[in-house]
This record gives sequence, C-alpha cells and structure tokens, in this order.
Amino acid sequence: MPVCATCHHRWSFKETLRAMYTLKPTMTCPNCRKEQHLTSASRKRGAFAPFLVLIPMLLNVFFDLNWLTVIGGMVLIAVVFNLVYPRMIELTDKEEPIW
Ligand SMILES: [Zn+2]
Repeated sequence: MPVCATCHHRWSFKETLRAMYTLKPTMTCPNCRKEQHLTSASRKRGAFAPFLVLIPMLLNVFFDLNWLTVIGGMVLIAVVFNLVYPRMIELTDKEEPIW
C-alpha cells in the first residue's frame, strides 16, 4: 500500500482505489491533505494495464475462443489489476518524469 511521502500515513486499500479513479494526476493524502505524485516506476507499471486487458483478444487470434471467454478474461484481468496495482503504488511529494 502507498505511504504518504509527507506524513508517512499508510493508505488503506479503499483510500488508494478511490484516489486511483479521479481525473486528477495527483493523489491527495487522506491524512494530511497534501498532493502526492506517483513515482515514475509506479506510473510505468500502471501504463501496462490497458495492454494486459487486451491479452484475451490476442489469445483469440491463436485459439478460437468464444466471445464469453474473451470478455470474461478481460473482466478477470481488470479485477485482478484493481486488487494488485493499489498494493504496488509508491508515492512521492515531487513530480518525477515518467522516463
Ligand atoms: Zn500525508
């Protein structure tokens, strides 16, 4: 789980998930209300998510899967991503370039 770079508050899973799905590029610490930025490593990991969801469609090219398996696989990957990614987020108080 992410730890605030300012006050060292360990975010809960629910707080992290809620902060992930806002339109702001920063995440506001629920404890000290300071804006936190994702580290470049965290942003790189998050950038792979759209490609992971496409894996079932890629597999469909090689194996003749029915549409329910493809959609189910995509939903499963999205659910697993939402369970795993919040635990891998690291925060910093300074904005870092992604590369
Ligand atoms: Zn804080």
